[in-house]
Amino acid sequence: MIVQGPVSAAVPALPAALLPMIEGLQEAVWLVDARSRQVLAINEASEQLLGFTPDDLVGCAVESLVTSPEDALFWAEAATGRRDGLHTDTMMRHADGHLLWASRRISHLPLPQGDGVWMVTMRDLTRQRQQDEERDSLLSELRATLESTADGILVTDLAGRIRHFNQRLATLWSIPELLLTEGRDEAVQAWMRRSVVDGAAYATRLAAIQEASLLHTNDRIELLDGRVLERVSLPQWSRGRPIGRVYSFRDLSETLAAHQRIEELSHTDMSTGLPNRRALMDRVDHAQAVARREASSFALLNVDLDRFKQINDTLGHAYGDRVLKEVALRLKQCLREVDTIARLDGDRFALLIHQADARGAEHAARRVQEAMSQPFCFDTLSFTVTCSTGVALFPGDGASSEALLASAERAMHWVKESGRGSFRFHQPRKDVDLLSRMRLDHAMRQALQEHEFRLFFQPQIDLHSGALIGAEALIRWRDPLRGDVPPSEFIPVAEESGFIIAIGHWVLQQAVTQAAQWLAMGLRVPVAVNVSALQFQQAQFVESVAQVLREVNLPPELLELELTESVLLRDADDALHRMEELSQLGVLIAIDDFGTGYSNLGYLKRFPIQRLKVDRSFVAGLPDDASDAGIVNAIVQMGRALNLLVIAEGVETEAQRDFLEQCGCHEFQGYLCAPALDARAFAHRFAPRAGASQSAHEATLTRKSARRGSNVRLLRG
Ligand code: C2E
Ligand code: MG
Ligand code: MG
Repeated sequence: MIVQGPVSAAVPALPAALLPMIEGLQEAVWLVDARSRQVLAINEASEQLLGFTPDDLVGCAVESLVTSPEDALFWAEAATGRRDGLHTDTMMRHADGHLLWASRRISHLPLPQGDGVWMVTMRDLTRQRQQDEERDSLLSELRATLESTADGILVTDLAGRIRHFNQRLATLWSIPELLLTEGRDEAVQAWMRRSVVDGAAYATRLAAIQEASLLHTNDRIELLDGRVLERVSLPQWSRGRPIGRVYSFRDLSETLAAHQRIEELSHTDMSTGLPNRRALMDRVDHAQAVARREASSFALLNVDLDRFKQINDTLGHAYGDRVLKEVALRLKQCLREVDTIARLDGDRFALLIHQADARGAEHAARRVQEAMSQPFCFDTLSFTVTCSTGVALFPGDGASSEALLASAERAMHWVKESGRGSFRFHQPRKDVDLLSRMRLDHAMRQALQEHEFRLFFQPQIDLHSGALIGAEALIRWRDPLRGDVPPSEFIPVAEESGFIIAIGHWVLQQAVTQAAQWLAMGLRVPVAVNVSALQFQQAQFVESVAQVLREVNLPPELLELELTESVLLRDADDALHRMEELSQLGVLIAIDDFGTGYSNLGYLKRFPIQRLKVDRSFVAGLPDDASDAGIVNAIVQMGRALNLLVIAEGVETEAQRDFLEQCGCHEFQGYLCAPALDARAFAHRFAPRAGASQSAHEATLTRKSARRGSNVRLLRG
């Protein structure tokens, strides 16, 4: 309903046609007299919008109804005829006093008479305003979220054009401000491409991501400055279809570094900073793979400090830790850069020596002994820490890293049992299982106490004259339960447990005593005693030999020590030193089982040896087996060239004897003459008759001169 207010005398009349016109409008309308600026009429929509009835408004001066300075100014200017109209959003007051937003247009309607009227139309903006505000606050929330995230965000449209990004993106990629503000998409993309390690791969991948508009992707990008970014991208949807893509970039450098650190820590021993057992095993696994591929070998050393517990117990753990650190440092200095030293636990270390055979491993073990032999000096204390080292070689001593480490550890335990402070190679265990070996070891220990061991002597004969030139002492054991146990069965077990040292000492004493007794009887027979590597390596070995000789007053040249080639190979320098000391004592040295080891002319020349014993495995095939014949011939020639006496072992037949004589071998021993005999039988057989003792004596002299002169004079008849 169109309402025209109570027309007072002061209110000008309205042309009747205007009323239906404003009645038909949905917007709120006031009609204002142009001259008096009094409200002439309002429509129903106005009443609804502002709550004022026509009675309230009609006749009022419009200036009294305005709420904004803009409207006040307009009406003031309209009074002077200087305004055509106005169309802006403004605030209007409701009848109940609250303000509301409206889009308000004021336009002039000329009339046939007078100055015409102003038509004020108002459209309610409350809803729209509310929506705008909501959208704005949503947007600003979104913006704040975007900016506050630690990820760099980039939004593109389907064509890859940049639509949004946050500041973090610019920081992550170090994109120059200018490129971003100028909105040069191409330049920004090029900048990103140039910042990565592999620009071509980056571009290809980006194209693929853009191509597949529905794809959800996640990958990593390596930047030139070393950082690694994670890139996640999702399609952006609007009304059910993809309209672009949102990329988020996260700097993974710190996370990766932390992971790496955790990985390192889990592979590191905290107190020494060395790789730990786990890291070692990884490296051994790798070394095995390489060695298999290249058909090469490597060594694993197990180093255990001797009596370290005492340091911990007496000086405290903090002190012990300092010692361990110093040990770690020294061990490190023994190794090449490529090798690994690891701490297994407590006072146990392991050394992985790449590309090493027995010789290389021995060098490393020696360097370890040397490094540890220097005294430790902390504060005012000075002391020595020795170590026991077990050596295992790949591929011989274990097919897996665990097996290899176990072999090295076993060898280390042998060193511990046999007096510590030294090193030793692992020796493959015999088929006998551990329990049987332990039982055998126990039985041996009892046998020594119960005097069940006996020493037999096998005659050694001059090939030309047939005269006795010596006797090899061979141990015999008859166990009450087991019966006769051959040395080939119990000696390796004794070597493994270290008990060979006790046995060896007993044999030495027995043999030397026997030789002295024979000598007293007029039978001058040099005795040859087998010496195990472990026994020979004992620090006090030379001294014990000298003492035994002194005790029974035997001329040292009546004692010959039989060493195997392995002794010389494994402890070259130490062995040389020891052998020189023995030589100075006047004791003779023979190399037993010659030809079965890694014979090397070099060491034969270097070492003070008098005799080579050709291993009986080569003699067995004589004279028919061509390769045995060739080998024996070569050994004999080599020995002769070096002025060494050559004796063949295991001679059982005349044919063997003849062959040996023909090829220039000097002596033999074997069943052809006699097996090992007990002392009484031996004496009975070789009892001094006229000239017999002389023969043995001359033979001894001949051996000694053989080493010195180039012409070997052999005893003939
Ligand atoms: P070996 O030092 O090479 O000793 C020679 C071995 O050949 C002895 O075996 C001997 O009985 C055997 N033999 C001698 N003549 C013949 C023959 O004509 N034919 C055959 N088939 N064999 C013959 P045995 O006594 O069983 O000793 C075996 C190994 O045990 C010795 O080899 C030696 O390495 C070790 N052994 C023996 N006694 C001792 C010892 O007192 N101390 C140490 N450390 N090892 C010993
Ligand atoms: Mg022997
Ligand atoms: Mg032998």
